[in-house]
Amino acid sequence: MKRVGAHVSTAGGVENAPLNAMAIGAKAFALFTKNQMRWTARPLAEKSIAAFKKNCDIAGIAPEHILPHDGYLINLGQPEEAKLQKSRNAFLDEMHRCEQLGLKLLNFHPGSHLRQISEDESLARVSESINLALEQTKGVIAVIENTAGQGSNLGCKFEHLAKIIEGVSDKSRVGICFDTCHAFAAGYDLRTKEVCEETFAELDRVVGLQYLRAMHLNDAKSEFASHVDRHHSLEMGNIGRPCFEFIMNDPSFEEIPMVLETIDDTLWAREIAWLYELEK
Ligand SMILES: [Zn+2]
Ligand SMILES: [Zn+2]
Repeated sequence: MKRVGAHVSTAGGVENAPLNAMAIGAKAFALFTKNQMRWTARPLAEKSIAAFKKNCDIAGIAPEHILPHDGYLINLGQPEEAKLQKSRNAFLDEMHRCEQLGLKLLNFHPGSHLRQISEDESLARVSESINLALEQTKGVIAVIENTAGQGSNLGCKFEHLAKIIEGVSDKSRVGICFDTCHAFAAGYDLRTKEVCEETFAELDRVVGLQYLRAMHLNDAKSEFASHVDRHHSLEMGNIGRPCFEFIMNDPSFEEIPMVLETIDDTLWAREIAWLYELEK
């Protein structure tokens, strides 16, 4: 079945995320396990971890359908050594938090070369950063998200994702998350069923759909191929209904978390219901 949800709030503690997901009829959810705008956080309390697991059971959402997102400051392709180390430490901490919560996936943006090193050098750093994190953890899969390619951000071409995966030693613990808004803004068209078929065929050819571990379902305020990252509510942006109809009816997207990061959280319950109505 399709596992649709949203990136829900953890206000009051991570243990509230599954309940927030349940309240909007979600069968999957995303969350930050710490403040995404800060480098460090207090360790998760035992009480909080136990309550999180219990509330996931209550919501009926399994760890495989939960997609934690790492903090925004982390840059695993960072050109400067000291800053790279800081990012790698923070990423490892994110991985540990996932382990503690019993989660299986960690979604992150590949990083940025900041115009100080070449794209290839930066991509190699991302692969090595993933290797270092995987060596020191167990069971959590590093899930690389495609990006809109704003500024010097890596990840806007499927080739970037393929290159990063190529450099990862344990292929069983690396995957990708496909963000519809980011792909559209990066120049991968999704406006009709036919172009959706082409875009995902290209993703399969370049990266391999076996690596697809998650989806972010967003419409786009951004123009096509604008490299601008602006999400919109479903059906209100430039992507439109056919893309989501295609996703909800294609077997490639079964049993992976597909989460909304749309801009109006008061619409999430309706958006989730709307997506399920698209299933034929
Ligand atoms: Zn993201
Ligand atoms: Zn996203």
